[in-house]
Amino acid sequence: MNAYPHIILHAQRDVSVRRRHPWVFSGAIARVEGKPQPGALVAIHSADGTFLAWGHYSAASQIRARLFAWENEDFIPETTDFWRARLERAIAARKSLLVDGNTTACRLVNAESDGIPGLVVDRYGDVVVVQYLSAGAEARRELFNTLLLELLHPVTLYERSDVDVREKERLAPRAGLLAGDEPPAVVEIRENGLHFGVDVRHGHKTGFYLDQRDNRARLRAAVAQCDAPTVLNVFAYSGGFAVYALAGGASAVTNVDTSAEALRLGRENLARNGFTEAAVEDIEGDAFMVLRELHRQKHAFDVVILDPPKFAFTQSDVKKATRGYKDINMQAMRLLRPGGLLFTFSCSGAISADLFQKIVFGAALDVQRDLQIIGRMTQSSDHPVALTFPEGEYLKGLICRVVGESGSR
Ligand code: SAH
Repeated sequence: MNAYPHIILHAQRDVSVRRRHPWVFSGAIARVEGKPQPGALVAIHSADGTFLAWGHYSAASQIRARLFAWENEDFIPETTDFWRARLERAIAARKSLLVDGNTTACRLVNAESDGIPGLVVDRYGDVVVVQYLSAGAEARRELFNTLLLELLHPVTLYERSDVDVREKERLAPRAGLLAGDEPPAVVEIRENGLHFGVDVRHGHKTGFYLDQRDNRARLRAAVAQCDAPTVLNVFAYSGGFAVYALAGGASAVTNVDTSAEALRLGRENLARNGFTEAAVEDIEGDAFMVLRELHRQKHAFDVVILDPPKFAFTQSDVKKATRGYKDINMQAMRLLRPGGLLFTFSCSGAISADLFQKIVFGAALDVQRDLQIIGRMTQSSDHPVALTFPEGEYLKGLICRVVGESGSR
């Protein structure tokens, strides 16, 4: 046995570890041998003492260990070279995305799915933004920062670990400059040839919804196949879908968001792409109300995008979230013209793709509209999902076409 602390699992609780699932929940653990500090390297053993995997210990979280190596117990995966190789592998996998210069921003490291639990790294041109989300990643923060500077040579290395999930690891939020120059107030990026400004200090996530890149491109392609459609962009944030819709030839875009600041960023992004004269209307308000009001005023659209924030944070939120998703989808369907397209998303990990489809179906039934699925969407390719870790797939979306006439209700 090696000198590292050991976690011994209960009998029959080793199946998921043998299948290389990266999480060990506290309930699976029979005992902990040694006194691992938060984030310490621990060896996972089955009830009969067989070595199974290496992980990082999270003393506070229900996810008590996050696994990343299944080699034998003589292989100690705690060297600089080991982590450098993991980072290099992840960064290399995104090379083709950035190669032609049309896209200058993407996720470089997607945590568990890239074999580096708790570490997220996003690139926005010369600015690299990191998030440390688990005790294991946090404990290796200096090492990862050094390696990222060595491998990426960014002008700015910035931290945005100001996220709620850190509470579960009993880690305080943290954000700020790690190395290099202070980031500009707005970092200019390109995405599929379009221009966007990103506020890495205050923006959502690390500044931009990079996970929607491929879906924004699909929207642009779909809009281009319509005849100058009118587009309703609900939960617009900084106008990502609005810019793509206009680039695809939309005749008018209506953005809805509760945040005036988000709508302001959206305006700036439209200007960046030369859409200063475009027919764009911004509605600052709660989507649940605004959609009803638009219907009451007999508005109709050819394309509606619904990209709400996470409604379900845990399994216990699923019921309430289901009602929320159903409601906005019903309201959106009522606003669509026959032949119109609905791009509808859920980024709640707790809502499966299957359940989401059922919710959209239920919404269509209730408003008596006939819809077809003509496309399925997930997160962009730089947010890969390890097959061993289906939980990594959180974003799901459907492209639906309205077939029939409007119902009587
Ligand atoms: N589609 C965007 C990302 C949307 S993020 C993109 O591609 O970049 C979700 C957005 O919904 C945020 O901007 C948030 O301000 C907004 N929001 C949250 N709750 C809302 C509500 N009830 N009504 C309208 N907007 C809301």
